[in-house]
Amino acid sequence: MVAKTLEEILQAEHPTYIGGGTDIMPLLKNHVRDDQDLVFVSEVPELQGMEHKDGYLYLGAGERLYDISVSPLVKEGWPAIAQAAGATASPQIRNIATIGGNIMQDRRCIYFNQSRYWRSGLPLCFKTGGEVCLQIPNSPVCRAIYYSDVATALLLYEAEAECMENGQRSWIPVQELIARHSQANGLACKEHLPVLVIRFRVPEAPKGEKSGFYKYAMRATIDFPLINFALRCGGDRPARIIAGAVAPEPVVLEETAKLLENGQSTEEEIIATCEAELKKLAKPIKEACISPGLKRDLYRQLSALLPLRENKG
Ligand SMILES: Cc1cc2nc3c(=O)[nH]c(=O)nc-3n(C[C@H](O)[C@H](O)[C@H](O)COP(=O)(O)OP(=O)(O)OC[C@H]3O[C@@H](n4cnc5c(N)ncnc54)[C@H](O)[C@@H]3O)c2cc1C
Ligand code: SF4
Repeated sequence: MVAKTLEEILQAEHPTYIGGGTDIMPLLKNHVRDDQDLVFVSEVPELQGMEHKDGYLYLGAGERLYDISVSPLVKEGWPAIAQAAGATASPQIRNIATIGGNIMQDRRCIYFNQSRYWRSGLPLCFKTGGEVCLQIPNSPVCRAIYYSDVATALLLYEAEAECMENGQRSWIPVQELIARHSQANGLACKEHLPVLVIRFRVPEAPKGEKSGFYKYAMRATIDFPLINFALRCGGDRPARIIAGAVAPEPVVLEETAKLLENGQSTEEEIIATCEAELKKLAKPIKEACISPGLKRDLYRQLSALLPLRENKG
């Protein structure tokens, strides 16, 4: 069903909400998901629009990544979001992919994102309905990685999401939404969070704050991130650093951010702290084109954002 109103969306009994379909369609094709009641939501007016109002940027969950990446409003006030949207996937995908779908995208793993034939030679794992993780056999949970680029930027600015769940509409921190989504998304392929994301709101930055997003990928023009970072500093609220594509959800680098506060730390001290903090917080697994060992070498890539400290960004 292509929904035109919020009421139409709510009529579906066991809905799976579709934004652009770029993430879910390959999963349906590979039979790792078998959702039946597909509800296309991006044309619903409540899920559209980009607006700066009452100290917040409001972004409809149905907004396309391309439109967000070129929006003068977003680029000016929340640059990391525009940069992350513009660095996601390829131009063709950004033209139809939505920010809601980007945040609610499936976690990925080389044992999961495969055809049914490929998977038929292996036992089921947590994410396909079994009781073991093929990546980390002694892990009690699925360790598939969450690769959203835009999530890293939304968490940087402590964004919230307006969601509809059980008929109730409420605002929750995006960090909490992703934590719940990540948990449900690793349980079994047939499970997903029964939540409709309507829009996001992002507080405006204080004067003098600098922020940005950086992504490292094998091929910058299409690939998922091997790692991404978002960083803010220089305003009158605490500095903050987020790293993505390193665990089942983005991680907040609190110890490293503290070094940005004092203004005395050298670049090498900050990078070394980032590396040490990520060694504690990240949960690397075997990925299509990188081993956990090589992934750890990328923890130093935060250096790409450190020029923001000197207002060069
Ligand atoms: C080749 C390729 C490269 C990619 N590269 C990247 C990359 O570099 N970085 C990155 O972050 N992602 C990447 N992706 C993943 C993904 O396609 C995009 O991130 C995209 O933003 C998903 O948006 P969509 O609207 O198409 O999602 P959809 O496929 O429509 O939806 C994805 C999931 O979100 C749910 N959903 C959608 N809208 C809502 C809503 N409003 N409320 C609740 N749930 C909702 C759906 O049910 C589904 O489970 C890539 C995908 C492909 C195929
Ligand atoms: S991380 Fe483990 S449980 Fe999750 S999809 Fe991969 S093999 Fe399956």
